[in-house]
Amino acid sequence: MSLLVVGSVAFDTVKTPFGEIKEGLGGSATYFATAASFFTDVQLVAVVGEDFPEEHINFLKKRGIDLAGLERSMGQTFRWKGEYGYQLNEAKTLKTDLNVFESFRPKLPPSYTKVPYLFLANIDPLLQFDVMKQVVGPRLTACDTMNFWIEGNRDGLIKTLTGVDILMINEGEVRALSGEFNLVKAAKTILSLGPKTLIVKRGEYGALMFNGNKIFAVPAYPLESVFDPTGAGDSFAGGFMGVIAQNADHESISDKTLRQAAIYGSVMASFCVEAFSLDRMRSLTQDDIRQRYIEFKDLTGYEYFV
Ligand code: AMP
Repeated sequence: MSLLVVGSVAFDTVKTPFGEIKEGLGGSATYFATAASFFTDVQLVAVVGEDFPEEHINFLKKRGIDLAGLERSMGQTFRWKGEYGYQLNEAKTLKTDLNVFESFRPKLPPSYTKVPYLFLANIDPLLQFDVMKQVVGPRLTACDTMNFWIEGNRDGLIKTLTGVDILMINEGEVRALSGEFNLVKAAKTILSLGPKTLIVKRGEYGALMFNGNKIFAVPAYPLESVFDPTGAGDSFAGGFMGVIAQNADHESISDKTLRQAAIYGSVMASFCVEAFSLDRMRSLTQDDIRQRYIEFKDLTGYEYFV
């Protein structure tokens, strides 16, 4: 079943201890849509400027992503500049140029308004809300955000969260949004704002999923070489939501499906960090994904003795 994403399509300039890239293809919606496209049909809502090359459009088209909702506006594409130290878990944002996103007001093509699965990737909560309002009765809405918006448009974000089923944010963002340091207390506070499920992304330590009163821990795949963590969160979300949309044959989404989806999320994030920009996704195959999913079973399974 179809999955719609609204978020940023960007040029990223990124420096890590292992190299750097200038104006590579990036953006929250780009990473999300690419990861999700390995599992289900994806529709993308975003804006790019006159400077966005056909080469990137062709890459997204080749992944089968529906670009009817990708507008091209006068002006420059969104740009983000960030840096990571050896502690790769959180980026230091050096510069954010919203450019064409400043005046973007998404108007969904009629074919998009009945989409069953919706992901509000990291972008101004105002735009997330705009899109949410235009989709009629989605089965599931999930959302991401970042400190830039928690600090810059908190009220808008709280308003968006009232209509969201699943929130996926990193540890620092959980603390900033809830005002609590302890993650269990923070999860309770956030789950009182609207979402029924909270996924806390913890970089190389994996993720924690708080679903009602259940907690599920997902490890990150232990890799020998990590080049660039940019987009790992969005790739996690793409794998997660892609699997949910692919298994959409039941009325309600079971805890088992949520757990499988979280493992696939971690699988997709592990591929993302193996190269700069979306480069690892370009050569990725269904076999690679399946193989790593099986390896997760070995990584997490154990005998239970009493
Ligand atoms: P992640 O590493 O998964 O948290 O997301 C990284 C992506 O988010 C990068 O490709 C950036 O282009 C994008 N990004 C960074 N800051 C923002 C922002 N304020 N709004 C929207 N997207 C952003």
